[in-house]
Amino acid sequence: MKIQALAAINKQEALTDFTYETISLSEYECVVKVHTCGICHSDIHMIDNDWRTSKYPLVPGHEVVGIIEEVGSLVSHLQVGDRVGIGWQSGACFECKDCLRGNENLCSKNKSTIVARHGGFGSHLQVDSRFCFKIPEELESAVASPLLCAGITVYAALRYAGMSSGHNIGIIGIGGLGHLAVQFAAKMGNRVTVFTTSPDKEEFALANGASEVIVGSPKGKTKHKLNIILNTTHNDLDWPRFLSQLDSDGTLTFVGVPPSTLSTVHIGMLLAKRLRIMASPIGGRAMINEMLEIAAKHKIAPVIEKFPSSRANEAISKVRANQVRYRAVLEF
Ligand SMILES: [Zn+2]
Ligand SMILES: [Zn+2]
Repeated sequence: MKIQALAAINKQEALTDFTYETISLSEYECVVKVHTCGICHSDIHMIDNDWRTSKYPLVPGHEVVGIIEEVGSLVSHLQVGDRVGIGWQSGACFECKDCLRGNENLCSKNKSTIVARHGGFGSHLQVDSRFCFKIPEELESAVASPLLCAGITVYAALRYAGMSSGHNIGIIGIGGLGHLAVQFAAKMGNRVTVFTTSPDKEEFALANGASEVIVGSPKGKTKHKLNIILNTTHNDLDWPRFLSQLDSDGTLTFVGVPPSTLSTVHIGMLLAKRLRIMASPIGGRAMINEMLEIAAKHKIAPVIEKFPSSRANEAISKVRANQVRYRAVLEF
C-alpha cells in the first residue's frame, strides 16, 4: 500500500509531498487511516534535528487520530473500523520492570512514533496496535489529537506528583500544555492557581477553571499553600520563590525543561518542609486510557486551530512563532 505523506527531506526544510510503501504487517501491527494529527513542538525539534536522532526524509506527526483499516494476525483488542489515537510512543519491550509496572514510557527500549520511522502526517500510519488507544465517542477527533501528547504529558505529571482531588495546584504557564493542565486539575476537583507572565491571559486562565491568577513572579503568597506546582514553560524562573509557595510535602514538577540547571535551589529549602522536585515524561498505556476517559467524562478539550493538511507548512510556521492558540491540528 502507498502512503501519501508530508516529509522534511532535509534538516530544517519545509514539508513536501512524499510517498512511501507500507511493509507487510507484523502480527501486532495495524494500519490507521489518519483523520487528524496535532502539531507538537517535538515535531519541530525533529524536523530541525535538535536532538540528533532525526533521519530524513522525516515524516512528523505524533498526535494521530484515525480509523483502523487493517490489523495484524495477533491483534485482538482492536478491530477494523475502530477509531484510535497514537501519541509520542509506539513501541516498548513489554518485559522489563518498567513495562511490567505499566510504565512503558520509562522503558529503555521505548520507540517513538517519529524517531527512525514515519509519523502521522500522511494518509495512513502503520503502527504497533498495542500503542493505539480507543478514542471515547464524546471526543471529536481534532480535539482528541492534542490529548495524545500534550494531554497525557500534563495529566501524568500531575498524577505522579500526587494529584487526586481537593488539592491546591499551581500551574506555571497557560499555553498549549498549561491550559490543558488547568482543565484536568480543576475539573477533577482541585483549586488551581495559574502563574503567567501575560496579563492578557488572565481571563483565559479563569475560563479554563483557574480560581486564582498571578501575573508575573509570585512575590507575595498565594491564597492557599500549594500541594503541587507544575511547570509547563521552558524558561529559567525564580524556583526558590515557587518552592516557597508549596505546602509541606509539596512537589514542584516539570514537563517544560528550563535551559539552565537548578543551581539556585539549596537542599535545605526542600528539607525544612520535606519538599520534592521531579520531572515527568508522557505516560504509560494505562494512564493514557485513563486520561482519555477523564477528558471525555469532564469535557476537557484543548483550544485548537484546525488547518487542512495542504496548509501544513503555514501551520508549522505559526507553531514555531508561538502564534497558535493553543494547539494546531492538521486534517487529512
Ligand atoms: Zn509531542
Ligand atoms: Zn520495557
